[in-house]
Amino acid sequence: MPSRLGVRIEATAIIKRRMPQIRVIALTGFKTDEYVREALRAGADGYVLKDASYDELVIALRSVGDGKKFLSPDVSGHLVSSFLHRGQAVMPQMLQLVAAHIVVGGGWLLVWTLIIGGARRVLRSAPFRRVMDGVTGSVLVGLGVTAHHFFTNMWRHTLHTVFRVKSARGAVTIQYPDERRPYAPRLRSLHRLVRREDGSPRCVACMMCETVCPAHCIYIIAAEHPNPEIEKVPERFDIDLGKCVFCGYCVEACPEDAIRMDTGILEFSSYSRAGMIYTKEVLLALEPARPDGTPTSPVPIPPDMRPS
Ligand code: SF4
Ligand code: SF4
Repeated sequence: MPSRLGVRIEATAIIKRRMPQIRVIALTGFKTDEYVREALRAGADGYVLKDASYDELVIALRSVGDGKKFLSPDVSGHLVSSFLHRGQAVMPQMLQLVAAHIVVGGGWLLVWTLIIGGARRVLRSAPFRRVMDGVTGSVLVGLGVTAHHFFTNMWRHTLHTVFRVKSARGAVTIQYPDERRPYAPRLRSLHRLVRREDGSPRCVACMMCETVCPAHCIYIIAAEHPNPEIEKVPERFDIDLGKCVFCGYCVEACPEDAIRMDTGILEFSSYSRAGMIYTKEVLLALEPARPDGTPTSPVPIPPDMRPS
């Protein structure tokens, strides 16, 4: 919303636009440059302060009536004074700006000269040349090794596939998990509980494995076996594979050969600690791996990883 002064200036502009023959004198108490300039720009023919004398008002009216411009002496004096001071203020600012540019530019020139001079000295120095010679030599040796393996393998693969030389075999990439490198026969992989012929666990819940386990990750709850000739049976047999260190002590300690680590399964995982606890039912369902170590049972999927 414009101020009262703004409204008057706008009114002046409208009057002068629609009826340019009308003469307008701004009678106001403001004498700042900004207001005077705005009023004159809007088309005011005179700018008179409210404290003007009767004679001054008469002179203003006559001058404007004759088609001249009139400014109160106070206003014109103020305008001249501010113009002179502005000029004085601008010059030192410009000088400061020029001086700052000279100082900054000179500083940068000095820094670049030092950097370029220093870089040249470093490039020409004997230690730098020795390092560069060493680096170049190492790079060339590396390229040579890579090229040797690349061309040797390419030649062997060409012999094998094009010329049918079965004994020539180049390096191969194993396409895991579709292809697997054979595991060592003594590899300790995911545990399994061995079953009797009737499918019940061979384990007699003697607690030997739980006792010997250094990670304390076996939990057994024993129960009476329905067969009086067998002392006990594990009602619950959990292994926390999140804690297991795969030492194999449980397998070694078992007097019944009821627990083994021969499933060949190594890729078990879970989103949670609870998912790493394998129960008796899961362990009983696992089968031994093939002689080359390939698992025959699918990797058990914990409940938290099953698709919902
Ligand atoms: S392999 Fe070792 S750490 Fe793992 S359950 Fe058996 S005894 Fe415990
Ligand atoms: S797995 Fe073997 S050592 Fe462990 S409780 Fe069963 S019988 Fe005992």
